[in-house]
Amino acid sequence: MPGLAVIIVGDDPASRVYVNNKKKACAEIGVYSEEHALPHETTEEELLALIRELNGRKEISGILCQLPLPKHISEETILLAIDPKKDVDAFHPVNVGKIMIGDYDFLPCTPAGVMELIKESGIDPKGKECVVIGRSNIVGKPQAMLLLHAHGTVTICHSKTENLKEVTKRADILVAAVGKANFVTADMVKEGAVVIDVGMNRNAEGKLCGDVDFEGVKDKCAAITPVPGGVGPMTIAMLMKNTVKAALL
Ligand code: NAP
Repeated sequence: MPGLAVIIVGDDPASRVYVNNKKKACAEIGVYSEEHALPHETTEEELLALIRELNGRKEISGILCQLPLPKHISEETILLAIDPKKDVDAFHPVNVGKIMIGDYDFLPCTPAGVMELIKESGIDPKGKECVVIGRSNIVGKPQAMLLLHAHGTVTICHSKTENLKEVTKRADILVAAVGKANFVTADMVKEGAVVIDVGMNRNAEGKLCGDVDFEGVKDKCAAITPVPGGVGPMTIAMLMKNTVKAALL
């Protein structure tokens, strides 16, 4: 049976929700899971010791350390300590490098979920103008790489991009991973584009919302993902896929 170990350090409320959703998904599909909830004061050495133990346990096929970690722990050091074959988030540099060359065991869950949504909707990025807003290691960069692997013509935008609207208006497929509510407005979107909203933000009323002004954009585009209910659930589904895959490695 595949087994997922989920580590959470501290009491960040958003991290708690994500971890609960991941454990629930494991229960739904019959994957063994165990949670390691550690206090905020946990030292880097204590966390490393736990990861070493989990690396060595046969019944644990996947290890996930929920980010962000408290400031006194180096995320880089922790991610490096996870056995790449158990790295179901695909954040280890070995896995990042494998994705770059297109020969990988795991894909990072959120960009993989976006690709699955595109594919299952009958959309082919081949030859299309694909624009990704955001260049984080977790979403933007791997997303661009996966669209490139799917033969898209890819542009990555970020906070220093000039004339952002001119670039996004060229997009047949527009992926927003910025982290700012209502950042993508109708005037930034081409008629008939496919719009994927990765953002998970809270608006002034505390309601979960994406990066795209959904109401303003929805009538202009061919397809659009909602928040909540779009990329978020796909991310969890891809985590389950990676955990099952890890058990077979
Ligand atoms: P991040 O590390 O903060 O990256 C945000 C990116 O947006 C950066 O590359 C930044 O550019 C760019 N950006 C910021 N302001 C901009 C502007 N005015 N114009 C153009 N680009 C701008 O965030 P992340 O981790 O990638 O996450 C992005 C969003 O996705 C967040 O809302 C996060 O909660 C959400 N998320 C959702 C899931 C899911 O499962 N649905 C998973 C992961 C993340 P610079 O690099 O120049 O600073």
